[in-house]
Amino acid sequence: MTGSTVYESWAQRVIFGSGTASEDVAAEVKRLGAERVLVVAAAAEALLADEVCADIEVAGTFSAIEPHVPIGVAQAVRAAATQHRADLLLSVGGGSTTGAAKAAALTTGLPILAVPTTYAGSEATPVWGLTEGARKVTGVDARVLPAVVVYDAALTLSLPTRLTVTSGLNALAHCVDSLWAPRRNMVSSALAVEGARAIVGALPKVARDGGDLGARRDILVGVYLGGVAFAGAGSGLHHKICHVLGGAFNLEHAAMHSIVLPHAVGFNLPFDPAAEQRLAPLFSPAEPFVGLVEWYAGLDAPTALSELGLANGDLELAADLITEQIPADNPRPVTRTQVYELLERAWRGDAPVLVPV
Ligand code: NAD
Repeated sequence: MTGSTVYESWAQRVIFGSGTASEDVAAEVKRLGAERVLVVAAAAEALLADEVCADIEVAGTFSAIEPHVPIGVAQAVRAAATQHRADLLLSVGGGSTTGAAKAAALTTGLPILAVPTTYAGSEATPVWGLTEGARKVTGVDARVLPAVVVYDAALTLSLPTRLTVTSGLNALAHCVDSLWAPRRNMVSSALAVEGARAIVGALPKVARDGGDLGARRDILVGVYLGGVAFAGAGSGLHHKICHVLGGAFNLEHAAMHSIVLPHAVGFNLPFDPAAEQRLAPLFSPAEPFVGLVEWYAGLDAPTALSELGLANGDLELAADLITEQIPADNPRPVTRTQVYELLERAWRGDAPVLVPV
């Protein structure tokens, strides 16, 4: 590599706890001097939000959350912020909920206090996303980065096993994809490897015993490290594939990531000895692709994009859209045929393969 390396960090206050969200949130609301809190939480997240807000006064609640933040949801959450004269957005929920709060922050400039209840990791990034029809638009803006993140492992105890696993794999995808993403650098890669280490160690424990609070806490550390790595490194091959599939075909976010990840790894790893070296110590056997696939086998994760409702006839369009977006410096040159073949394997649910050089 020639020239200097740039790593841009994003300032946040981050609190890790277990069963401590209500007191941590109350302390942070006070510290921020907020007097009119708009709670952003989906109807399905209302009980979690009640728990989190037990020690604060709430000015209003917005619950009309939909996946991928349709433009109408963005307009409605902004209107709610104005109506309630909010001075703080308190998001309690998964990535869709964090995304709605980000959409409001993008135009109002209001600070966000994020309390994540899945492992999506959006709270750690300045990336926003909106959808208009089938078109997903994303951008980076410092205004959408939550000022404060309060993690509470106890809030993730209610995640069903399947979502625990797929959302954990979504977090792992942030880590792994950061290793070959366009703005990768020594800082983002170090964060990514530590994040992956935490998730690889803890996710199988939680898949076996959803009540393992210590392991859920470890996953949240991995989630945050992976989110920060992703924010620093940008979207690599894996995220470009999932961005197209999620935006154009509205597939279940976490499950889609968990299906595509081993196929993306099998494609890139033979051309990325640096990533291979970083990942090897995390898996047993130490050949990281075999190790990853064996590790996956213990999680009972979904394997086929066809199960998520993607039609075989959609693969041609998806391959066209993805090929246009592959980062120019992906470690392996990528042809449209290779993208189509990767999608077809993931669509059928084939065992992931190390695509030969
Ligand atoms: P989600 O937010 O849609 O949540 C999935 C389901 O789980 C929802 O029904 C939700 O109500 C429920 N849920 C949330 N927490 C729960 C809990 N503790 N117990 C039981 N159920 C719970 O899905 P997600 O995977 O968390 O997030 C996906 C979205 O996040 C996508 O739109 C994606 O684009 C976005 N995202 C953005 C970034 C970013 O950096 N901007 C990063 C990752 C994901």
